[in-house]
Amino acid sequence: MHTVDNVVAFLEQFAPPELAEDWDNVGLLVGDRAREARRVMTCLTVTPATTAEAVAEQADLIVTHHPMPFRPVKRLTADTTVGRLLLELTAARIAVFSPHTAFDSAPEGINQRLAAGLGLRGIWPLVCDESGRGAGRWGWLPEPLSLAGMAERVKAFLAIERLQMVGDPGRSVRTVAVACGAAGEFLNAARDIGCECMVVGETQFHTCLEAEAANVGLLLPGHFASERFAVECLADVLAEQFPELGIWAAKNEQDPLRWA
Ligand SMILES: [Zn+2]
Repeated sequence: MHTVDNVVAFLEQFAPPELAEDWDNVGLLVGDRAREARRVMTCLTVTPATTAEAVAEQADLIVTHHPMPFRPVKRLTADTTVGRLLLELTAARIAVFSPHTAFDSAPEGINQRLAAGLGLRGIWPLVCDESGRGAGRWGWLPEPLSLAGMAERVKAFLAIERLQMVGDPGRSVRTVAVACGAAGEFLNAARDIGCECMVVGETQFHTCLEAEAANVGLLLPGHFASERFAVECLADVLAEQFPELGIWAAKNEQDPLRWA
């Protein structure tokens, strides 16, 4: 028999909580560590759709990339979306664990997988401590690509049809930074390292202007696409570690942003 705590202990070894940013809210956020865990669902975000799937599929534990709750909760009522989802999850006795920025930065975490998947070599954190651990990643391409060619490579790896781009499509790219999610704050680090291109899930208009002025090409595949693939990888990692458990990545999870 495995408990919620057994799965949590493995996840905290896989994505050590000390790698999380100070502002984050990672770890076991809902539930009883001592309860048995038989069915585990990974997802990017706890939403009405993923909550309904977890309840219908009788999950004991949700491993969600984005924390829920994220902010302190002062009253637990169905008047807010967070309150309603927490009530539904606790009524179904479903625990919630979030690794968030610890998973972004982990040695086999999202940014490492993104950098490796895009064919980068010599991968290293964009911002790191003396031990070489840290956030974001950068590396170099064995053969230079145009910015447009790099965009094609990002689309192929993330299985998306479109992305947004800042910069001259024809410019040559050799050194590339990656940072999943909303990660425009890494622009200065990428520029200081000399990266010609940065792949970021999403960022603000003014960060796009700053990137243009700093001559750093930006590729923006979207927050969802830049992280959701890793939720599927995490389900595989858990299934390998706990072969006797029922483990899956949420099937009812979609990018809320659509092209119209
Ligand atoms: Zn995110």
